[in-house]
This record gives sequence, structure tokens and C-alpha cells, in this order.
Amino acid sequence: MAVILDGKKLREKIFEELKIKIDSMPVKPSLAVILAGNDPSSIIYVNNKKKCAEKLGINSLVINYPADVTEAEVLKKIQELNNNENITAILVQLPLPKHINKSRILNAIAPEKDVDGLTTYNSGKLFSGEKPYVYPCTPKGILLLLDEYKIEPEGKHAVVIGRSNLVGKPVAQMLLNRNATVTMCHSKTKNLSDITKTADILISAVGKKVVGENMLKNNCVVIDVGIFRDETGKISGDVDFETVSKTASYITPVPGGVGPMTIASLMLNTVELAEHRK
Ligand code: NAP
Repeated sequence: MAVILDGKKLREKIFEELKIKIDSMPVKPSLAVILAGNDPSSIIYVNNKKKCAEKLGINSLVINYPADVTEAEVLKKIQELNNNENITAILVQLPLPKHINKSRILNAIAPEKDVDGLTTYNSGKLFSGEKPYVYPCTPKGILLLLDEYKIEPEGKHAVVIGRSNLVGKPVAQMLLNRNATVTMCHSKTKNLSDITKTADILISAVGKKVVGENMLKNNCVVIDVGIFRDETGKISGDVDFETVSKTASYITPVPGGVGPMTIASLMLNTVELAEHRK
């Protein structure tokens, strides 16, 4: 049976250390979150982020907009937050309503306040092997989890399923920067299981059940980023945990694996951005 990569436990350890650090900061970090629309998952995620921030002593501000808010209005608010000395980190909760241009909105955030690391400036730094202000939260959380369990990416074959700007591409690049050999798969990949069978580390970020029995070699490290409700309404990941955990060496549960690490990274990034300003 695989060892469980316990994201909840590591999140609590990170929070304990962060709390001590934040208590000693004369000026506390301040996180502003913009939420446009009323997507139920987004509302839960934003509330959770606010709760965690407050628990750690980070000032937090949530700006709510109705789903029909104009792009101009959100851009104006971001400018205001960029110019506000008291705000050290800005996050725009995704997805945005369809009529809003995501790239324009994300790139309006000042790179030194871009807590998700998703501006072209910060992702450009990541992809050119330079240091961004901060790394995107979910990929950073995955690397922290691998490090915690002493799983070294160097020389390993890492297969990443999913190529979003949010998860797939940055995690692939971060693994490449750590000297893994990386293969990326997506919806047009042919013979997915021929590729996954060669993985030492598998990262799945799809949002559908795509990794089942007999798709991996023995002792693969399995990171399941996906989170969605299955046909019965139960929270599920991309990986068939029951069968895959019998042959994997390590595996993340859903929930309790990558999700808590994303929020831990968000809090780490918020503090890092505040420290940059000193
Ligand atoms: P996304 O933007 O929808 O990207 C999904 C990716 O999966 C795309 O690249 C798509 O390929 C690929 N794909 C779709 N069907 C496939 C298939 N049958 N076989 C192989 N690849 C396939 O999603 P995302 O934002 O990266 O999120 C992915 C999942 O992770 C979602 O469930 C999301 O809720 C979850 N998530 C979790 C956390 C967390 O903290 N736990 C954080 C972020 C996201 P194409 O590019 O060809 O369309």
C-alpha cells in the first residue's frame, strides 16, 4: 500500500511556522481577494482563504462583484489596490465571468503583488529559469509536498496530465527546473496509458477520472490535483485511489492532499510578498 502524502498535516506545520513569523512582523501582510460572480465553489474557496489568513494574522479584504460586473470596473479596482500601500498581495479568484478577459485582468496586477504568480511577468520569469516574485500556489504546494517526503525529482521521469497555465504548465516547468525529465499530456494525447506507464512521478490536473488501474508501473509517486463532484455528488480526484494506491509508492488523497497545500502556498506567498517590500 502506498504512503499517503498528507497535505493537511504539512499545511498545519507550515501554518504553525508562519504564525510565529507573522507575529514578529511589525507591519502585517494584507491580502486583497477579488471575487466576481457567485460560483458556489469560488465562494467556498474565497471564504476559506479569508479564514486562514485571519487565523494567521494576515489582514484580508474580499471585494465582491456581481456576475455582470464590467471588465473596466475590475481593472479600476486592481489599479486602486496596486496603488494602495497597505495592500501587499492581490488575488483574483478564477474562473471569472465569461465576458471578462482573464489575461487582461491578471496582467493588470502589479507583479510584486501577484500572489498567485500568474502574471506574464512572473510566469515569464519562471519559464526562463529566473526567480519570479512568487511561484504559482498549486505547483509550489506540490513541490513542497514532494520535498517534505524526500521525493527527489532530479533524474526522474515526471508525467504531467493537463496543460493549464494554473497548474499543468507551471508544475511541469518547476519539475524541469529541478532536473526531472518531463512529459506533458492533454486531451489530444494518444495512448495516454503508454506514457503514464513510464512515469516515476505522475501529476494529474484534469478534473475527470483519467487515471485508473494498470496505467502506472509499480512504485510510481502519484499526485492527484483534480477535484470535482462525481455522478453521485461525492468529491473525487482524477485518480482511482482504491486501485492505484495498491501499487503506488506514494499517493495524495482527495480531499486532503494537494488542496491544503495550495492554501498553505497562498499564505506563504502572501508573507513572501510582504517581506519583499522591506
Ligand atoms: P483546466 O484548465 O480545465 O485544464 C484541464 C486540462 O486537462 C487541459 O489541459 C485538458 O487538455 C486536459 N484534459 C482534459 N481531458 C483530458 C483527458 N481525457 N485526458 C488527458 N487530458 C485531458 O483545469 P485546471 O485549472 O488545470 O484544473 C484541473 C483540475 O484540478 C480541476 O479538477 C480543478 O478543480 C483542480 N484544481 C485543484 C486545485 C487544488 O488546489 N487541489 C487547484 C487548481 C485546480 P486540453 O488542454 O487539450 O484541453
